[in-house]
Amino acid sequence: MITIKDVFEDYRQLNNVYETQEIEAISLLVINHVTQLSKASIKAFPERELSNEQTEKLKSILIRLKTGEPVQYTLGTTEFYGLPFRVNPSVLIPRPETEELVEWILSAIGERRKVKDQRTKQFADSILDIGTGSGCIAISLKKNLPDAMVSAIDISESALQIATQNAELNTVDVNFIHADILNLQSTQNSELKTYNLIISNPPYVTLEDKKEMHSNVTDFEPHNALFVPEQDPLIFYKAIADFALINLIPGGLLFFEINENYGQETVDLLQNKDFSNIELRKDMSGRDRMVKAIVK
Ligand code: GLN
Repeated sequence: MITIKDVFEDYRQLNNVYETQEIEAISLLVINHVTQLSKASIKAFPERELSNEQTEKLKSILIRLKTGEPVQYTLGTTEFYGLPFRVNPSVLIPRPETEELVEWILSAIGERRKVKDQRTKQFADSILDIGTGSGCIAISLKKNLPDAMVSAIDISESALQIATQNAELNTVDVNFIHADILNLQSTQNSELKTYNLIISNPPYVTLEDKKEMHSNVTDFEPHNALFVPEQDPLIFYKAIADFALINLIPGGLLFFEINENYGQETVDLLQNKDFSNIELRKDMSGRDRMVKAIVK
């Protein structure tokens, strides 16, 4: 019989792909997923024996991990903002930086609601997430703002399938729309209404950045969610800012996740398009990562 301790030993084969500490964390995550035992009990009882079925699952996941496939894809699930999300290679794996963006949006809306509430009791936020992928931003916003109307678009139908499953998994209603923000057709446009908040984490990785990225990301995650043309790295920001100027109400908010190397350029772009109160923020690693702006 195979014990938990044997699995930890077997998973050391990942030393070609990961550092020792990461191997520990990944092993724990996978054993927790497969056995449903708590992480504490996995650590406390290393001699515990596993069933044949569990052993087989753990072996097949290890084979995939050894190719460099991200652990979240091998499990098919991850967590974002305390909520469960299904993931597969048609969607980007939600990142912790994006949780910081969601936090910022929720606190900005909270601030606005305080002011609004004094004037009027009625207030419905109408939110659009552009390039929703797994749906992590749209769904976590809706979960935390149940009375808001939340819509989300993506160019990828397979991403929208996952996003729809994730909305069901989290028991929230999000209006998903299949559309390409760079080529909005009038039919698609008619589904898109007026919003008081638009948010996007669009593709922003350049070929230059790609050189420094781990092959876990570049070999496995969807390129249409990551990469931008070298000659026009802000292509999505320009299109989304123009869309926001037309589709946000006056005073409406625009939030972006951004490439750390393009903080000032993104601010300049928004300034040139006449947005106001532009604010650039860093992520927990101290990198320029998000921007907020207001439509005049
Ligand atoms: N932050 C992601 C990464 O590092 C990229 C996300 C994006 O392109 N929007 O892989």
